[in-house]
Amino acid sequence: MAATASEKKLLLGGEWIETGAWVEVRSPYSGEPVGRVARAGAAEARRAVEAAVSAMREPLPAHKRAEILVRVAGALGKRQEEAAQTISAEAGKPLKAARVEAARAMSTFTFAAVEARKLAGEMVPMDAAQAGTGKLGFTLRQPIGVVGAISPFNFPLNLVAHKIAPALAAGCAVVLKPASQTPFSALLLAELETEAGLPPGWLNVLVGPAAEIGDVLVEDERVRAITFTGSSAVGWKLAERAPRKRVNLELGNATPVVVAADADLDDAAAKLAANAFSFAGQSCISVQRVYVERSAYDDLVARFLPRVEALVVGDPADEATDVGPLIDRDARDRVLAWIEEAGAAGAEILTGGELEGELLRPTVIANAGPGLKVSCEEVFGPICTVTAYDTLDEAIELANGTRYGLQAGIFTSNVKTALEAARRLEFGGVTVNEAPTFRSDQMPYGGVKDSGNTREGPAYAVRELTEERLVVLEL
Ligand code: NAP
Repeated sequence: MAATASEKKLLLGGEWIETGAWVEVRSPYSGEPVGRVARAGAAEARRAVEAAVSAMREPLPAHKRAEILVRVAGALGKRQEEAAQTISAEAGKPLKAARVEAARAMSTFTFAAVEARKLAGEMVPMDAAQAGTGKLGFTLRQPIGVVGAISPFNFPLNLVAHKIAPALAAGCAVVLKPASQTPFSALLLAELETEAGLPPGWLNVLVGPAAEIGDVLVEDERVRAITFTGSSAVGWKLAERAPRKRVNLELGNATPVVVAADADLDDAAAKLAANAFSFAGQSCISVQRVYVERSAYDDLVARFLPRVEALVVGDPADEATDVGPLIDRDARDRVLAWIEEAGAAGAEILTGGELEGELLRPTVIANAGPGLKVSCEEVFGPICTVTAYDTLDEAIELANGTRYGLQAGIFTSNVKTALEAARRLEFGGVTVNEAPTFRSDQMPYGGVKDSGNTREGPAYAVRELTEERLVVLEL
């Protein structure tokens, strides 16, 4: 087993339990075992919901919740390298990127702690209506109830943090199901939560068959909200199956970037190369489609390609590695098939397109038609297309030509162009002179169209996981 190999139990009602069955986790890079985790099924999921319901019978005051969240942030600070090594081992994420994720998780907990202390309703100006004269009205922000949280493999620590920290800040107990490929980072967070003094039942972590555990979260009426980050196919199905719950969805994207001729092309090329291939493109906001104004196209491509070719492909545990493996062989085969489809349709592979050992080299594709998968579906691999455009209208139409709408970006030195793009790009966020892969953890983050229906960032997630209760007093 690898250096971080371990055997972990599940957290259920404050107890670390074994179930007699195990989920094995292997390195996406070497195939070596990373460790194994006790496997939960429907029975454990029902017990976890019960434990969460019973925990919420004794609400934790906001100051206690904030103190616990701050302690977790502190503990994460102390164990940052261990967290980064865990992420890297189980997800195959290059250490450089894993360290950034571990640091970000600290800030997610810190912002959630702030929100716990700020959580408040608002005054209602009752005498603004004749009927309200003589009355005092205000709202209380109440926790929505037990939250079922489901997270993906690609940010196994910080996206789990974005699930559990705001839910706890809001006063909700959580039943968490992390991705089966990456449970160790989530269990590390669970350990830190219990060490920080979180009482039993407030956080329960289950690893096991998604459908079995997911069904309990969907069907049990006491789970009042499901917060899901993952693929659109799974997310929208969950929402359909749970019409009476709040189902918050953070889903995929096919991230576009527009580069105008007046942009700083060197800056754009550097940021695009760094953000199209980091973690082998397995970020929901990895740069995937670059549209360049025709007069600057050759220049931008000439600055971009050498930077892409200089990226170090290899072992994620190696300090120098920029691009590691895809999460599994199926993912790699799918991405290779999409490259082949583009090639067969007349697109030109400018670099990459083949394997280096077992790893897919960063790939840049020119002249990919708008109907190709690489041009409108989520690649989730180390591929980026480059396409020339003539007018801003055309660029915006191309960028919007996808069912997704999470984040998009534009590089330009003209404020008018930037603001016009920000208004017309149909995405939850637009970055200007920054790659749309940028995320800082307090930002409102989320998508439109198929990319989701909610906003994360602790301040926004806390709002989504609480309900306003109106109180009217007759004076
Ligand atoms: P996924 O296959 O949808 O899995 C996500 C989670 O859902 C995993 O925990 C998975 O469990 C679980 N799941 C699968 N089927 C389920 C079911 N029927 N019921 C309940 N849960 C189920 O996604 P992924 O491959 O891990 O992650 C990649 C996707 O996430 C990409 O589309 C990416 O864009 C998106 N993403 C979005 C954001 C965002 O903030 N918008 C951030 C990161 C990633 P198992 O692991 O056990 O199958």
